[in-house]
Amino acid sequence: MTASTTDNSSFVLSGPALLADSHTLIPDAAIAVIDGIIQACHQRSDILEQFPGLREVHVDSCVLTPGFVNAHTHLELSFLAGKIPGPADFPNWVLQLIAAYPSAGDAEIVFSRSALAGAQESIRFGVTTVGDISRQYPIVRLALQKESPLGIVSFGELTALGRSRNYLDARLAAAINQQESDHRMSIGLSPHAPYSVEGPALEKIVAAAREHHLPLSMHLAELREERDFLRDFSGPLGKSWMLMRQMDLLDDFIPAFDKGPIQWAQHYGLFNAGVPVILAHVNYVDDTELDILARSGAAVAYCPRTRHYFGHDTVAPHPWWAMRQRGISVCLATDSLASNPDLSLLREAQYLYRQDPSIHSQILWRMITAEPAIALGLGSRIGRLAPGYAADILALPLAKDVLASAATVCDYLVREAPLPQSVWIGGRQVSSACPLA
Ligand SMILES: [Zn+2]
Repeated sequence: MTASTTDNSSFVLSGPALLADSHTLIPDAAIAVIDGIIQACHQRSDILEQFPGLREVHVDSCVLTPGFVNAHTHLELSFLAGKIPGPADFPNWVLQLIAAYPSAGDAEIVFSRSALAGAQESIRFGVTTVGDISRQYPIVRLALQKESPLGIVSFGELTALGRSRNYLDARLAAAINQQESDHRMSIGLSPHAPYSVEGPALEKIVAAAREHHLPLSMHLAELREERDFLRDFSGPLGKSWMLMRQMDLLDDFIPAFDKGPIQWAQHYGLFNAGVPVILAHVNYVDDTELDILARSGAAVAYCPRTRHYFGHDTVAPHPWWAMRQRGISVCLATDSLASNPDLSLLREAQYLYRQDPSIHSQILWRMITAEPAIALGLGSRIGRLAPGYAADILALPLAKDVLASAATVCDYLVREAPLPQSVWIGGRQVSSACPLA
């Protein structure tokens, strides 16, 4: 097989080892890439023989791995990095977040720069695709599509509660606009949360997602107070929230629901959408709700350091292990820089591993690669290194003495969380800490 040697996205990438997925380690390996797509992963000598026309790029002292996939972040909030100190009380955090928002005149420049800074930080940490929740989607999609190489599923965030329900149709029409979508950016919808989207509005958003084949992402069961809000609009997310009083949204036509957020979402069709569904956080669930989630096919995006920031760890541990035991897909994610110190997925894995080193590092590895790729509906294109997959590749520095197996490599990477030496997205090198040999 031959390819032009001047084509930047066609080459052979070789190194001391390749971790194709959490269980497959190939020593002295190489990847053949043509037009940004992986053709083969194998022993270096085999690949060089099979693809003699491709130039070789060699990395020393690194393992080649798939890029990380962040199932839940908000790049546009990157301008709030470090601005709201934790531990934070959620309703108060939202008030601080809104108070820090730019004026209408500055919104375009602030949110576009902010999203691009978040994209750049993601790439620096080896994240090559994100599920990006964006309320400023007309601004953010354009900026990212024009100026960032990051792979993006851009979930247009929608609210529709009480007196704001009449804006939903126009917002929905704008959010499903696929003008910016291309091979790197695809569009999704994000009904925001049970305290900002009423049931019939959720039903409408789900119907639009089904009709246009768009993935869905929703903050769900993040807060214990969602239950009180849904039951009678009481509590710190309802009538006692200063924001809710100021916005004056509540009216008599919002349907109440007394069985909690998971059954509420089920009732309004979120789990029958027929498209990929990602639920962000899911901090508070009982056994009945876990059973519903297990049947739903929805994936959970668990953000350990953001959860710590909001103090949920002091209430109870996250039920991610019980979820996995029931067959629910759980991905690790960061949420935004307004609640997380950085956008490193490997550090999320490292955070859990440090708390409990008995956790299998290969499971954590899958939770930042293959599982979020599948959760975003991209499981046949990204999340592992294999023929037909996008050449989204990291060169992660590695000590030679850990190259015994996929397990020892995953242990090392999750324990040390090294920064990538180089990052390729779609076969194009987008970051390099030092020159390649
Ligand atoms: Zn979020």
